[in-house]
Amino acid sequence: MNELSVDTKNDATHTHHRPTWADIDLRAIEYNFKQVRKLIGKDVHIMTVVKANAYGHGTIEVSEVLERSGVDYLGVATTDEAVRIRDHNIKTPILVLGSVLPSEVAVAVERDITLTICDDELLDAIRSRTAHGGRLKAHIKIDTGMGRVGIWHEDALGIIKRISSEKGILLEGIYTHFSSAGRDDFFTAYQIEAFEKLLSSIEKNWIKIPLKHAANSIATVDFRRSHLNLVRPGLIIYGMYPKHTFPKLIKLKPALELKTKIVFIKDTPPGRSISYGRTFITQKHTKIATLPIGYADGFGRKLSNKAEVLIRGQRARVVGKVTMDQTMIDVGHIKGVKVSDEVVLIGRQGKEEIRTENLARMADSIAYEVICGISNRVPRIYKR
Ligand SMILES: *Cc1c(COP(=O)(O)O)cnc(C)c1O
Repeated sequence: MNELSVDTKNDATHTHHRPTWADIDLRAIEYNFKQVRKLIGKDVHIMTVVKANAYGHGTIEVSEVLERSGVDYLGVATTDEAVRIRDHNIKTPILVLGSVLPSEVAVAVERDITLTICDDELLDAIRSRTAHGGRLKAHIKIDTGMGRVGIWHEDALGIIKRISSEKGILLEGIYTHFSSAGRDDFFTAYQIEAFEKLLSSIEKNWIKIPLKHAANSIATVDFRRSHLNLVRPGLIIYGMYPKHTFPKLIKLKPALELKTKIVFIKDTPPGRSISYGRTFITQKHTKIATLPIGYADGFGRKLSNKAEVLIRGQRARVVGKVTMDQTMIDVGHIKGVKVSDEVVLIGRQGKEEIRTENLARMADSIAYEVICGISNRVPRIYKR
């Protein structure tokens, strides 16, 4: 990190002075994508999920690198995320995974964005937008047990028939989503069976839908039957493991490292309290350092008195409550420690590593929440 690092895609003119940043290794993302390609074979399409700012890694930079690597589809949560990708001249097909309102149909048709259809509500808007030409690309979402958006699988055939005969709709795909992949194999098998049953009755009715998909990261790695002809990995593309047993099945490289520098150190005698609420009291003479990162950056309060960070290749513990902008650590045992020393909160330093998955466990959370919680205040520095 230096003072002139520029976060190009977010704010082209902004330079950063506070020494807190995230290094994003785009080569790791390319590597992870290729690992997924190797694992599933070349007959299955890949839709990489880049919603929520590509899980905090930067939608545009990540989408560009995946497009160059030959990804078949990008998955996002909202129409706005899709429009932003199109604004950066990325041509890869994009599916909006969430349910949208009729007011979003026009822009989807104009910008070649594929929408998810979960009911009849969009049909009027689609008819009026396409009456004089143009077509909406759509995937139908089936609920086989997620209990979120989607048509219940038992009731789906009628609406699929109606949608497939709409002139203004190019029905390109159909999909479902697992609620408990990797946690409840019985229920996951029930979900895929329900989906397969629906797919075969669609075929019996002579309705052709080219893309059929169900698999998130866990099912991509560990449930081949669910691959159908497209998989939708998110987390593994960024190099995190959704289950602790997965390093045996696929080798991934974490793409994000979260770093800062010590901005202040003081000698502290025994019996002094550290931070709000005095939850930590020094037991002996030590050195307490302050880091310019806090929960407003995504380093959560639940990590107070728990998380460790890396300095000079050694571990140091967070002491006291994490505050909005600053966090204290005990560095009494680290020889030669001084202001400006680089500190790793997520990532590697020397032989030591702190993984997002470990931080998440400590914070009573999941890797997904930790990684997409790293806020806009933290500039992303790209390695290409
Ligand atoms: C987020 C999401 C995914 C990706 O999930 P991972 O567990 O990150 O692989 C796939 N499908 C849908 C519908 C999603 O919302």
